[in-house]
Amino acid sequence: MNEERKPVQVLDKGFVRLVDFMGGDQGVVDAARVSYGGVSKGAEADKKLIDYLLKHSHLTPFEHAVFKFHVAAPIFVARQWFRHRFAAYNEISFRYTEVKDYFYMPELWRGQDKKNKQGSTDASALDQKPLHDMFAKQVEACLATYKKMIELGVAREMARMVLPVNLYTEFYWTVNARSLMNFVALRADGHAQWEIQQYGEAMARAFKETMPWTYAAFLRHGWRGENATIAAERAALAPEASAR
Ligand SMILES: Cc1cc2nc3c(=O)[nH]c(=O)nc-3n(C[C@H](O)[C@H](O)[C@H](O)COP(=O)(O)OP(=O)(O)OC[C@H]3O[C@@H](n4cnc5c(N)ncnc54)[C@H](O)[C@@H]3O)c2cc1C
Repeated sequence: MNEERKPVQVLDKGFVRLVDFMGGDQGVVDAARVSYGGVSKGAEADKKLIDYLLKHSHLTPFEHAVFKFHVAAPIFVARQWFRHRFAAYNEISFRYTEVKDYFYMPELWRGQDKKNKQGSTDASALDQKPLHDMFAKQVEACLATYKKMIELGVAREMARMVLPVNLYTEFYWTVNARSLMNFVALRADGHAQWEIQQYGEAMARAFKETMPWTYAAFLRHGWRGENATIAAERAALAPEASAR
């Protein structure tokens, strides 16, 4: 891939940019057909093969399609993200570079869900203004202390300890389509934290644009989550017969 793709904005200052990809739907088909020395049998048959593979959990052919993303996300999102082990990661070093004023400032403060201990509810019960003011003041104070410590000669690797986890980090994420499907299934789902859900949805869109046949088959057979946009896409899919 030669032309540089535009980053897709996520949250207030984050982004996801597809840097490169390999294989695509055809790479999956070719990998599956090599098992029996076959070649492509045309678009319709290939599409059905992808559907068949996902329906019957024959997932290794999807490992031959690979994506490389450049991501900017708050540290607390990256921490959840990095739990996905089937991927390669390289991240900016705040030992090497000085931190800039690059923090996630949420638009709305959500309330604590009383039933789901990991979840949040809507923001309507909270008085937003004092929360925004309190938070902005705290972030500013943290950054000011960080800068002062650097000025006083403290090493970047130590001064960063004063910084909050809404600081944006950047990383490269290389992931195969099998692992990407797992990421989307878990992180675009309504049970994931809202912030990482936004990245899950951005990944779903990149996946759909790059591998439309696999994405459609994933919606039919791999998606069990809660997400209004994805549910609508799934409902709009025509039923498809699987074949080999
Ligand atoms: C809503 C939500 C809440 C969560 N809450 C918590 C939490 O409270 N605490 C917490 O620690 N984590 C939590 N997690 C993280 C979660 O446990 C996983 O670590 C994360 O989602 C990565 O998923 P994964 O292991 O499927 O992905 P990957 O690491 O990419 O693994 C992909 C797949 O490979 C296989 N695999 C990988 N490693 C092994 C292995 N060692 N042995 C066998 N099979 C393997 C599994 O099939 C796995 O699904 C949460 C995740 C979500 C989505």
